[in-house]
Amino acid sequence: MKGAHTDTLLAQALGWLEETTGGVAPSIQVATTYVRDPAMPSSEGLWYSRPDNPCYWQVEALLAELEHGEAAMVTGSGSASMAMVFEALSTGDHVLMPHYAYGGVHYLINDMANAWGIEIDVYQTGDLDDMARLVRPGQTKVVWVETPSNPEMVIVDLEAAARIAHGVDAKLVVDATFAPPPICRPLDHGADVVLHSGTKFLNGHSDVVCGTIATRVKDDFWQRLDRMRMRSGAMLGPFETWLLLRGLRTLHLRMEQAQASAQKIAEFLEGHVDVGRVFYPGLASHPTHDLAKRQMSGFGAMVSFDVTGSMEDALKVWGGTRIFKNATSLGGPESLVEHRKSSDGYESPVPPNQLRLSVGLEDADDLIADLDAALTGKPTNRPQARATKIAQGLGWTSRDHKAVVLPVHMASTYATDPATYGKPYAYARDQNPTYEQPEALIADLEGGFEARLFASGMAAVSAVFQCLKAGDHVVIQDTLYWAIRGLMKQVVEGWGIEVTWAPTGDLEALRRAVRKGETRIVWLETPANPTMAVTDIAAATAIVREAGALSVVDNTFATPLLTRPLELSADFVMHSATKYLNGHSDVVAGVLVARVETPFWDQIRHIRHMTGAILGPFEAWLLMRGMRTLEIRVARACRNAMAIAQHLDGHEAVDLVLYPGLTASNDHDVSARQMSGGFGGMLSIRIRGGEAAAQRVWARFKLFKIATSLGGVESLVEHRATVEGPESPVPDDLLRLSVGVEHIDDLIGDLDQALQAA
Ligand SMILES: *Cc1c(COP(=O)(O)O)cnc(C)c1O
Repeated sequence: MKGAHTDTLLAQALGWLEETTGGVAPSIQVATTYVRDPAMPSSEGLWYSRPDNPCYWQVEALLAELEHGEAAMVTGSGSASMAMVFEALSTGDHVLMPHYAYGGVHYLINDMANAWGIEIDVYQTGDLDDMARLVRPGQTKVVWVETPSNPEMVIVDLEAAARIAHGVDAKLVVDATFAPPPICRPLDHGADVVLHSGTKFLNGHSDVVCGTIATRVKDDFWQRLDRMRMRSGAMLGPFETWLLLRGLRTLHLRMEQAQASAQKIAEFLEGHVDVGRVFYPGLASHPTHDLAKRQMSGFGAMVSFDVTGSMEDALKVWGGTRIFKNATSLGGPESLVEHRKSSDGYESPVPPNQLRLSVGLEDADDLIADLDAALTGKPTNRPQARATKIAQGLGWTSRDHKAVVLPVHMASTYATDPATYGKPYAYARDQNPTYEQPEALIADLEGGFEARLFASGMAAVSAVFQCLKAGDHVVIQDTLYWAIRGLMKQVVEGWGIEVTWAPTGDLEALRRAVRKGETRIVWLETPANPTMAVTDIAAATAIVREAGALSVVDNTFATPLLTRPLELSADFVMHSATKYLNGHSDVVAGVLVARVETPFWDQIRHIRHMTGAILGPFEAWLLMRGMRTLEIRVARACRNAMAIAQHLDGHEAVDLVLYPGLTASNDHDVSARQMSGGFGGMLSIRIRGGEAAAQRVWARFKLFKIATSLGGVESLVEHRATVEGPESPVPDDLLRLSVGVEHIDDLIGDLDQALQAA
């Protein structure tokens, strides 16, 4: 991946594949110890997983690349990273700390490091003269900088600070938690070590406490830090490491969205009568705005402001927001507001009327309206935008602890009161509280009555046909997701169900295929795999209804963000949640959504209960986590796919581009009516030169992974005729692309080089 843009490095996490299987998501290495060969030199191989967990390697390589450093490491928390820097010092060493900074670092250095005889001086945050005055040649070992600083967002001139630190042979250590790479890369500006609370923007999902440290060069100081994780043991668990890497795959999308909103919010606050000073580096009025422009490629998503009046007034605003959650921490998908004076404790220099915002992924206008309501004391009942519901998972917090992320409920059975046996929970085959939030969110996005998760997309499809009986008639479109054809031919027909195949998108043919009073189900998929043929859902469901049948729309390719079939009178929507909904190529899951409560829907619920094709709780939880970024992932995928379709349209190696977004496409009029916000991340191309040329091109892809499936953060390419086998109706010159969230230039570069083989 040398030379790839940061967006691409992140989306693909350096493009590493799982070693033994080619998996596009890494496995979770849980072993604590490894079998060794006695003949092996002691310096080789893996011993024990405190220092040696292979699941660290990919994330650490990615972090080093992101920070432009020679090495990086993950630790048990941001505090562990900070502590390791101090642990690497010795009695008598001198450290220079900023006056304003993350509260925890002051407790850490004063309570802990002082006991070891480390000397500390405090400089005025951002005041380089003060810093230069306080360094002690030969004794100062660390000059600590936090930029942007907590909570007033002071940007520190890193090149100047590095000159001061290096002038006395000290290390410049930078806590860059508030502005992750690529927004700020302190190592490029002369810092020696950069650390993060990875809990915040890097992980970005408010569900892992972790830390990172990266170094510009692998020198002696780094060797000491590196040994410290093994010696003092503040390591990160394998599950958390895996989640951090998963979180990093959307860092670029999350930062782009959050900082655009932060800028709008800061501008809004600056003009508000109930607000005093506003601290945001993106405001021209910010004291270090010019420096921020030079040193950063964005201004981050943290904003502080003074409420006009006293601490009482600030506390009222703090408690008055509905969308901004009143909680500590930052960098998650949900926006947070905090009264830092209360969190830091009494000795904090933070003004008592100051509030700090962490801006998340919600709709910016919702966030502004929420702040306005809290500032003016006039609540609104403005409906929440879709982006807000997605980012916040409908705003649910846990019943027991008000956690912003709901727990994974692992119990298989529940203690219960005999008087109300079975309510609300009896047995976890299909009563698991972990399902409730993702099901509610999917139902809401589709505009449906209710949703049910299944073990896979195919389990959801099967549940529909399991509700039928021998002699029933169904109509299925002929071009569709291949495994559904297999299911019908190899399984469902065996249950005595009669199947009529109708040409995809052809409404006249559909009218001829349905039998009034006899047809039970009509199955539609749009855009259809892999030709992207679009069906006019409203027209099709009218035909289905007139025949007295029920319609099911497989909405996997479009997602509820682009098409809402239930609003076009479909009865049910089905998704392979494996694809866009989860979006990280690491969960297989399915879902059905009903428009209204009906006896048929009740039967589907009953089928899940009886046949047991349920999703595991951890998978349901990961799906919910994946959906927090659905809006920004789909937006980028659509934008990338459209750019690719336009680039390939007329390309000398391509006969035809199949993408509903192209105005020349047969289906463009219907698509433009029925899809909003984009035309999806899926497209197919027919290669000039037939099957042999298509096979040659397929084998040449480097960035696009040659793999089945779709809808993940990484781009995939597939020769469908090979995958589907000899009975497939798919043209053998067709390649299907699932376009991910990488940088568009890298994707087009890879396509162009692969197409040279045509
Ligand atoms: C993947 C897919 C399915 C099947 O879902 P699984 O989760 O793989 O069981 C069904 N329909 C479409 C359109 C798909 O892409």
